[in-house]
This record gives sequence, C-alpha cells and structure tokens, in this order.
Amino acid sequence: MNRLRLVPILILTAATTLAHPPASAQSGASKPAPPPAIKSFDITAIDKTADPCTDFYQYACGNWVKNNAIPADQVRWARSFSLLGERNRYLLWQELDAASINPRTPLEKKYGNYFAACMNTDLVEQKGLSPLAPALKRIADLKDAHRLATLIGELAAEGSPAPLYRFGVGQDEKDSTKQIAEIGQGGLSLPDRDYYIVDSKRFDAIRKQYVEHVAKMFTLAGDTTGQAAIEAAAVMEIETALATASTDRTVLRNPERHYHIYTLADFQKLAPDFDFTVYFKDIKVRPFDTLNVATPDFFKAVNDLIAKESVDAWKAYFRWHTIHGVAENLPKAFFDENFAFFGKTLQGQQEPTPRWKQCTAMTDRALGEAVGQDWVKQHFPPAAKDSMDKLVAALEKSLGDDIETLPWMSDETKKAAEEKLAMIRNKIGYPEKWRDYFALKIKRDDLIGNIRSDAVFSRNYNLNKLGKPVDEKEWTMTPPTVNAYYQSSNNDINFPAGILQPPFFDFTVDPAVNFGGIGVVIGHEMTHGFDDQGSKYDGKGNLREWQTAADRKAFTERTDCVANEYSGFEAAPAHGDAPQQKLNGKLTLGENTADNGGLRIAWMALLDTLAAQGKSVLEKIDGYTEAQRYFLGFAQVWCQNQTEPSARQSALTDPHSPGRWRVNGSVQNFDEFGKAFGCTKGQPLYPADSCRVW
Ligand SMILES: [Zn+2]
Repeated sequence: MNRLRLVPILILTAATTLAHPPASAQSGASKPAPPPAIKSFDITAIDKTADPCTDFYQYACGNWVKNNAIPADQVRWARSFSLLGERNRYLLWQELDAASINPRTPLEKKYGNYFAACMNTDLVEQKGLSPLAPALKRIADLKDAHRLATLIGELAAEGSPAPLYRFGVGQDEKDSTKQIAEIGQGGLSLPDRDYYIVDSKRFDAIRKQYVEHVAKMFTLAGDTTGQAAIEAAAVMEIETALATASTDRTVLRNPERHYHIYTLADFQKLAPDFDFTVYFKDIKVRPFDTLNVATPDFFKAVNDLIAKESVDAWKAYFRWHTIHGVAENLPKAFFDENFAFFGKTLQGQQEPTPRWKQCTAMTDRALGEAVGQDWVKQHFPPAAKDSMDKLVAALEKSLGDDIETLPWMSDETKKAAEEKLAMIRNKIGYPEKWRDYFALKIKRDDLIGNIRSDAVFSRNYNLNKLGKPVDEKEWTMTPPTVNAYYQSSNNDINFPAGILQPPFFDFTVDPAVNFGGIGVVIGHEMTHGFDDQGSKYDGKGNLREWQTAADRKAFTERTDCVANEYSGFEAAPAHGDAPQQKLNGKLTLGENTADNGGLRIAWMALLDTLAAQGKSVLEKIDGYTEAQRYFLGFAQVWCQNQTEPSARQSALTDPHSPGRWRVNGSVQNFDEFGKAFGCTKGQPLYPADSCRVW
C-alpha cells in the first residue's frame, strides 16, 4: 500500500501493497488438500504468559507462532496472509484442474490449456533445452557488443528474458492523465544491489555460492566445467557493475529521484554505444519524442560497460538470463539446481513448492482476469461488495475527522488534505470490465512457448497505452489475490476479492474484530495517500506540493520520528557470521505510516459504529473487551514465522516491516492501546512519547 508503478515497471521500490507477496520456489507432485477454515479471532493463539504492555505481538500471537512451524515449502508463514493465500490457491486450482480436463467455454479452454501445459512435467523433460534453442542461437551469433541493442530487442520481441534495463509505459508523474514511456535500471539476478556490493562475510559467502550456482547451470546446459567457470565469473562481473550503477531502493522512494524527462535524442546521448532506436523498433512501441529516464546514471554506466566487457562475457550474461529466467519450467535437473540456490540457500526454503501450486500461481499471473471471472462468481457475493462500500465510507469519514483535528496542521493544508481524501476512488472486488485475452495464444503442449506468448501479450498490452487516455478502471492485482494497494497516480484504493474473506473480512464476528482486520487494511490503504511518498501527489495523482512549507516541515519531522523509531527494531538477530540486522526505517516508512494511520482511523470508525448500535468498547466477549478484541484482531493478522535468510532479505528489500513490528510499532504509537490493556504510562508499548503523523 504505497505508490505502485505496477505495470512491468522500472521502479522496484514502489510497492504500494499491503504485504510483500510470498516468495517461493516449486516442484513435486503432492496432492492438493482442502485447506482448513481460518478463524478471524483465535483465542488459542494468545500467549497469556506474555505481558501485552511489553510485547503485544508475543501476547496476541505467541502460541500461534510456537505451534505453527513454517511448512517445508514456504519461507514465511503468516496466520492470515499465508492461510488465506493457500485457501484461495486451492479453490483456484480446483477451477483450473476442472477446466484443464473438461472446459465449458473458450476462455476455460485457454486457461485450462495453460495450466495443463505447466503440469506436464514429462513433456518438459522430453523437450530439454530445445525450447530455448532460438534464443541461445541469437546469443551465440553475437559478433560485436555494439549490437547488444539488436540482441535485446530480438529476445524481447520473441518473449525471451531480455535483461539489462526495464522499459514500459506508465503515467507521467506530473501529469497523471498522460501515459508516457519509462526506462530504468535492471538486469540483476540476486534480490538487491547490496548482495553484490556490500562487504561482509555473509554476502561474500552468498556471492561465492551464487557464482558456483551459475556455473552449475551452465554445465547442465552442456558447457565444460572450465568454460562454465569462466562464464559464471563474467556474469558476476557484469551484474556487479550493474549493481554498482544502480540507485538504492530507499533513495528511489523519493519520486523526484526517478523522474527525469528526456528527449529521445538526449537520452540516446547517455548511452551512445547502445542503439535504442533498434530496440524500440524490435518491440514495436509507437514512436515517441520524450520519456522518463528513472535512473540516468545507470545508462551512462551501461555504456561504459558495453566497451569494457568482451563479447564472450556479454554472451555469457545473456545466456545465463535465458536459462535462469525460465529455470523453474525447465527439466528437473535445472529446476533442482535453481531451487538449491534461490530457494534453499538464499531463502531457507526446505522443499520446493508443489507443482500444482506453482502452476496455479503462474496461470493466475498470466490469465488472472480470465480465471478470476469464475472465481468471484463463486467466492465473492454482491452482498460482500455492499458491506465493503459501507466500511470504506466509515473509514473515509474517520480519516476526515482525523485530519480535521490534527494538532500540527494549518487549516489551509487541512483543506487540501480533505480535498485529496474526497477524491480517492474506491475499487472493490474485481474489475468492472475484464481484460480481453483473445490475442494471447496458448498451446496445450508448449509451456515455454506459452510463457513467451504471455510475455509478449503483456508487454503489448502495456506498450499500447502509450499516448492513450488512462483507464481508471484497470486493476493491477488479480481477483483472488490476498493483498490490497494504493496507487498514487490514480489516487485510488484497490481491494481484490481475495482479501475480502475471513480472517480479514468476516461479518459473523463482532465489529471490533472486523474493524481490526479489514478496517485497518482499508485505513492503511487510505493513509498511503498521505505517507512520505503518497503525500507528494495531489488528488489528481500529480506530483505536486499541496502542503504549506511549514506543514511539510512539520510533516517531515513526524515521519522522521517514525523512521528513527522503526530503524531501532531488530529484523534478524546475530547468527553465525551475520551480525544483528535492524529494520530500515526509511525503506519501510510509507508502510509503517500507513499501519499507524490505519490503526487509528479504523479505531475511530469502530467507535462510531458501536455508538450507532448503542454499544461500548467496554463490553466483553470471551473475557476481552471490544477494545481489546479490536487490537487482538489487528495483531492476529500479522502472526508469522519466517526463515532467517528470508527475514534478512526482507529487511533489505521489503518496504513492509515484519509482523512483530507491524504490531508493536503501531500500538506503541497509539495511546488507546495502552488504555485498553490497562498499561502503565512509561511501559514499552505505552510510552510517554511516541510518534504520530496522521
Ligand atoms: Zn501498504
């Protein structure tokens, strides 16, 4: 839930989502089993030996955390996100499995075939690397590094991995009605630039293992051990140079840092040795005169690299990405080696994700608005949308009340904030108009071919937007997704049907638990419009200051307080060669601000709702007051276990804080929590001083 350039876009940092999508790798043939129902409020999760005023996360989640080890095929296991994600995936699998056997419509046939091709691992085995032959030949034929643009353009045109940078079409940050070309840094394989350039024992070890992995993949592809070692070293050298030239993701949170409008001619001057006109022609983008160059220095560095690296080094780099990019869909030897490094070593995943889960997720990514049509018919009744409309309206009112009573903001800025709030558009459940997949050709016996068709289809869909009006009704998450997002350029909040299910959204429970669940989620998304990034955009989605200078200064002091506070929280304890790792308060600032705001305004909406029903937050159910149940319901959304390597990776790359700090960080900044649990002022989660933005 922060700003989201969601399209296949450049700026990786800009996730505006509620949570980081679960990472996983896959394989195996285990049988899907129906998942259990998920309780919205789980009294058995509570660790009553913990002191809620000292560690509320432990209190609300302690028993759950103790009793729910991470399944072997996961790296993060969360009580709400993972369990609901597993449930939705199972329901989707049922639909895909049925469509792959007995399709009733042309659309079912299409996604049924996509799924069937993915499940057919025997055929994958038989084909070996032959589906990659055309791409590998193009690479082998490279004669001159000055022809890299041609190579990348041709690889992209056929839907093969075409690394080095990212190109697409997105809304102009300063005129959100316009859709313009954008280009920015890319080309890495490890999760972040730090993995290449930070000097530490842990990263040294990972880099060594990565190079060994790349070499193993080359030997599997038929190269000699000696040749593979040379190629792997070249891959590492090029990726390290790209990492060094890349801008840090925390820096890129500032929208001005990735907004640089260039004429095409001036952009070409940044990298004179790379002929972008050839590339643009190959991918068939309509002619344009100007574009946003998110990271200009990166392209200067790429230009230097073109001359510096040998043709053979470049061949190794592209050959690597061709194989690595589809490694999960190659024969088992490639799959296993890929899992051993990217799953097990890098993230601590013990077993690959079962094939049916992998294929369900892939089909959802490729054809989500086709599969999703039936999914919402079965799992998202119209009554759910009506309830959500009412809840969103209640939260809007609360945020308005909150803005009105903010002690630090001038009336002038309050008026502008209220205008922006009034302009937020709400999108609930699924798109009004479904995407047309007619142009996407799918074959039942060609998995890699389908992946390429989807890559081309998706890129064409994106590039076709160039110069056209913005489609405000478009969605960037598929209906069964367990997540939500705010999009700055459209000033809209989006809640896929997938998250509008228990334990988030449940009208069989008391309002306190429901407001602690989906209420806080809605409040979180709305607050994104006013966090460190979102607040820089106006109600129309344009990057434009609407706060007075004094208010912006006061705002920044408050966000600095939040950033410093979360920077003190531990992301991973010291372990072996790795020292203790703290959270990056600046990277997670938007999410933390949204969590804090969401908790406050959902509470206000709960009070309004209870008052309208003639009830009070002091009424008890199962021994807890409604006030306590609100905070417990909120906290139990975030109960989780995570492997240590994955937690360390998240601390570097995920703009969301881990569950413990989403809970403890938010409640310690909200006095109503301390009051609800009878804490004494000065206790850790009821401090004398706390941070507050909204
Ligand atoms: Zn968020």
